[in-house]
Amino acid sequence: MKPPISPSPVQTERPKTFSLTCVTPVFNEMDNLPQFIPALCQTLSALTPHYEIVLVNDGSRDATLATALMLLHDYPITVVNLSRNFGKEYALTAGLDEANADAVILIDADFEHPLTLIPRFVEAWQTGYDMIYGIRNRQHETWFKRWLTRAFYRVMQAGSAIDMPMDAGDFRLLDRKVVQVLQTLPERNRYMKGLYAWVGFNTLGLSFNESPRLHGRSGFNFRSLSRLAIVGLTAFSELPLRMLVFVGLFLSLMSFGYATYIILDALINRTHVPGWPTLAAGMAFFGGLQLLSVGILGEYIGRIFTEVKGRPNYIVSGTYKSPLLEEKTELVQPVKASTCGSS
Ligand code: UDP
Ligand code: MG
Repeated sequence: MKPPISPSPVQTERPKTFSLTCVTPVFNEMDNLPQFIPALCQTLSALTPHYEIVLVNDGSRDATLATALMLLHDYPITVVNLSRNFGKEYALTAGLDEANADAVILIDADFEHPLTLIPRFVEAWQTGYDMIYGIRNRQHETWFKRWLTRAFYRVMQAGSAIDMPMDAGDFRLLDRKVVQVLQTLPERNRYMKGLYAWVGFNTLGLSFNESPRLHGRSGFNFRSLSRLAIVGLTAFSELPLRMLVFVGLFLSLMSFGYATYIILDALINRTHVPGWPTLAAGMAFFGGLQLLSVGILGEYIGRIFTEVKGRPNYIVSGTYKSPLLEEKTELVQPVKASTCGSS
């Protein structure tokens, strides 16, 4: 029995007939697409006749593009083909730039996100919520990964002004106005979960059980997840920098106390043996701390460098539209990507 959706505290008039765009980033998903697209279309067509799927091919190395182009004849799909693998955050950005419907849904192509939640997202949107996100149940993940994730969210929450909901992923519905705001955010270091939280609006979280991936392997490994976590931390939190100040202050006070002890010890007990192990340990410790501090500063400077270069977030090598979409352009009119995309 599904829990009822609590009505939005801010009642917004939503159109009775509305357009819906689903943005799906795809990276090596050729085995999932032939099942995913028909299933998604079935779910969407039950909600509105004016729907579209934006598939962003994020530099797949298998036949994902060919599969998507084949499906395009039978389903209302727009394929945005990126020039290389930019990563999921940038593929989502490219898809959002292409979306222009009343509501936009972000969903993965591997069936981990249950399609049955989409009608509930739309129902909540109709009651006035601007952003509805899925909260995944992480039961099938290892305790180590869960622990790391929790620690990451704790640090994020402690060090940033935004409140990032725990276990909320990219599976979500965004109202047109949220999409328009996201399209204007210029940052190059994109951490989408941080950006969704930063824009605010009237939001609701709905829980779901994540299903296992149908075909293929996850595009994220420990290294890419760590990289994403560092981007998220340095883009949305000043806590690491603030911590450096506190650790530095604490150690200075400690060493001051220790120096006093050594002087008193020499004066009172007449100790003459110089404690080289203490020196060696102290040097190693402070050396390590200095390197860590410089490393953290380097991370932030690296982010500034990326922003200053001002390169586009992604490059579109081609956009392909289903003939079915050309027929109903009056109802659903996707916009062109704002960066250097070509059609
Ligand atoms: N994906 C992408 N670019 C990447 C990695 C993944 O567009 O570099 C897509 C992928 O095809 C899928 C979604 O992002 O639709 C989620 O990826 P994945 O299932 O690999 O991640 P996980 O579910 O393990 O977090
Ligand atoms: Mg997945």
